[in-house]
Amino acid sequence: MIKKPIVAANWKMYKTPQEGVFFISELNNLLLDKEKPSIIFCPPFTSLFHMNEMISDLDISLGAQNVYFEKDGAFTGEISMSMLKSCGVQYVIVGHSERRHIFNESNKDTNKKLHTVLENDIVPILCVGEKLEDRESGNTRMILMEQLKDGLVGINKDMIDRMIIAYEPVWAIGTGVNALPSQVEESHAMIWEILLELYDNNIKNNIPILYGGSVKPDNSEELIRTKGVDGFLIGGASLNLDMFSKIIEIVHNKFMR
Ligand code: PEP
Repeated sequence: MIKKPIVAANWKMYKTPQEGVFFISELNNLLLDKEKPSIIFCPPFTSLFHMNEMISDLDISLGAQNVYFEKDGAFTGEISMSMLKSCGVQYVIVGHSERRHIFNESNKDTNKKLHTVLENDIVPILCVGEKLEDRESGNTRMILMEQLKDGLVGINKDMIDRMIIAYEPVWAIGTGVNALPSQVEESHAMIWEILLELYDNNIKNNIPILYGGSVKPDNSEELIRTKGVDGFLIGGASLNLDMFSKIIEIVHNKFMR
């Protein structure tokens, strides 16, 4: 089965609601009537409501960058799944390296969030990836195994079939240094092997595995041609209209040939 390629934008803590709406309308003008990959925007929470009103007629989906695992309650500063759903969110990034390493989120936290997202029929984009020191000491597989095994506790095979995974080596995020295609191919294959191992070969081959880490127009052609890459999760370059639309076209061209 051919998976439709995915290009997801992680806007992190950038862009006001007005800037977000403007970006989407400009992107739509650029890509109007063109066939596109699946495009997912993950703006800051404050932009979701306005961007949702804007995208209803466009072939674009909305994702959130985070969620809290409780349904509601006295959790100052957190956001619930039902709040996100009411803003049209269809995807949630879980376990991004900035959540893990700046906000000390553990695999256990990630796991609770995954359950919340899936129980709400929303698609999680689970991020995994090793730090530079893990790669240099030959521990990439061990880290990916830990993040997947502990992150996926209690996630059954039907649930995993509804997820997206993003391989995001920490050393490549926001650094301008992307992983080499050979490293990406190897890590994506490792992720797939680990999933097969965890689920006794009992999962469908349609879980998209995205690559993320300094994707730019000039490296996206090579990266999207890399075996095992079903699309991208993009930070920096997704904030720039010109760069982001070029990447979308490159991804589309690769898959349509
Ligand atoms: C990200 O934030 O998920 C990311 C991949 O960032 P960048 O593209 O800037 O490396």
